[in-house]
Amino acid sequence: MNRIIVISMCLLGTGCRYDGKSLSWEGLELVANRFFILPVCPEQLGGLPTPRPPAKIETGDGFTVLDGKSRVLTVEEKTDVTPNFIKGAEEALRIANLFRENVKAVILKEKSPSCGVKSIYNFKSDSLKPGKGVTAALFIKNGYRVLSSDELEEIKKL
Ligand code: SF4
Repeated sequence: MNRIIVISMCLLGTGCRYDGKSLSWEGLELVANRFFILPVCPEQLGGLPTPRPPAKIETGDGFTVLDGKSRVLTVEEKTDVTPNFIKGAEEALRIANLFRENVKAVILKEKSPSCGVKSIYNFKSDSLKPGKGVTAALFIKNGYRVLSSDELEEIKKL
């Protein structure tokens, strides 16, 4: 039986976000009592510190980055953190793959350049655009069912 949910670690309230703050997620109760939770934070797994400078995908989305046609840059200094984002996505996938047969779904934090599923931020503004983060794209490429943290109705049905 598929009883594991791979989940963005910050959705559990841990302070792994770029700003070191924690958040509460209304969907946690929907999965916590029914599944074994396997938390991953791709940006930490990619070797980035917490807190860390905010970063965005330069053009396109996570798929574009995985194709080598775009980069992930920090917003202020424009430091290229693409290798960290790709390594973190690969590490998260590697961990999930250890339990692959039992993974029901992957739930990732919306709007993040790693974990966004439906939308990510435009590089040059605070507006959102449709697209995937790097980790979301890699999980999708590898055949996992990936849900956004905003898709509470779908999460209820798991
Ligand atoms: Fe880590 Fe993803 Fe949460 Fe960012 S959105 S803090 S990369 S788990």
